[in-house]
Amino acid sequence: MSVRIEDIVNKASLQKEDIVRLLRSKAEEARVIYEKAGQVKEEYVGKKTYFRGLLEFSNICAKNCFYCGIRRQNGNTVRYFMTDNEILEQVKYAIDNRFASVVLQSGERTDRRFTTRVTSLLEKISALAEGKEIGVTLSMGEQSRETFEEWFRAGANRYLIRIEASNKELYEKLHPSDAVHDYDKRLQAVKLLQDIGYQTGTGVMIGLPFQTYEDLADDLLFMKKHDIDMVGMGPYIEHKDTPLYKYRHLLPSKRERFELSLKMVAILRIMMKDLNIAATTAMQTLDPVGREKALKVGANVIMPNLTPVKYREGYLLYEDKPCLDEEVEECRSCLEARIAMAGDEIGYDELGTSRHYHQRMNKKN
Ligand code: SAH
Ligand code: SF4
Repeated sequence: MSVRIEDIVNKASLQKEDIVRLLRSKAEEARVIYEKAGQVKEEYVGKKTYFRGLLEFSNICAKNCFYCGIRRQNGNTVRYFMTDNEILEQVKYAIDNRFASVVLQSGERTDRRFTTRVTSLLEKISALAEGKEIGVTLSMGEQSRETFEEWFRAGANRYLIRIEASNKELYEKLHPSDAVHDYDKRLQAVKLLQDIGYQTGTGVMIGLPFQTYEDLADDLLFMKKHDIDMVGMGPYIEHKDTPLYKYRHLLPSKRERFELSLKMVAILRIMMKDLNIAATTAMQTLDPVGREKALKVGANVIMPNLTPVKYREGYLLYEDKPCLDEEVEECRSCLEARIAMAGDEIGYDELGTSRHYHQRMNKKN
């Protein structure tokens, strides 16, 4: 006799086979998962969405991940680095508009010129905040313990580093086999960040070539096992100037990748009730209201893009990224209306720290 979806979503703890069953569910059944996830969100983190102003401040990258449009070997991308003033202006915009939190993202570089520049930028951001507490999230890949610590001291308090694929074999298919694309080092970076005291975020891409439902179930169990505070995950979207493009015939349709991403968000909310989950831009790329759908089924963070329009063409991690020509003001007003439609209120002026982080730190002390 087959188990009912209702019974699975109400279990105290989901096992791998439960998750696989949920991921395979058809539209009618998936509705049950979404409803449950919406309830869990409301009960544990409230019907609230937090804004994080996203600044993609440089597309210069030393790495060559097979899926990414700004990989070092893609010669078709014009490289840029925003000036400190341009960055600070956008951070000021975020503060003035009561976002209370920004995310600084870039390609991965570990050279001292880069790391000290980020340190000085963080100091300038702290000065700009004038004693007001703001969330500063970094997303700049793997760094040494010293660099992570230096940035932490300079004012960064959150870090996003996706494991990309928690299955090591799959990870290895998506990256060159050399010392800088090493699964164990990536995992080590997650642990380092937690140890230093960062609110730590990770995530995966969904619908990758060679990826199975079992892999995706393991991805969710990975977040749980490693006690992650924040998750950003979204569909893999192909980019023609990347090596992975040749496997596009293996991909599920974009609609399927979107549905699968929505299920991943919902199942994660059911499994880990108090963490922060982002409604990612990649979800919006595959569905015009994709982020709002994600908010309804458990996500509680949105990252409005504050990158100046003139740089956006340069930050195409994947094709068809939305809002390429929309300045933030426009994006913000459309976002407000859309979030209200999703039934949430916006957590203006609130840090929106992951409740899970508090739990984890309490356990540690
Ligand atoms: N360089 C940093 C941060 C920028 S890349 C890092 O790699 O951690 C941010 C994220 O973009 C990556 O973690 C990856 O999950 C995502 N990404 C890259 N290429 C993508 C693609 N083709 N489709 C979907 N997401 C992609
Ligand atoms: Fe560089 Fe990050 Fe893209 Fe990899 S995913 S190539 S590290 S920007």
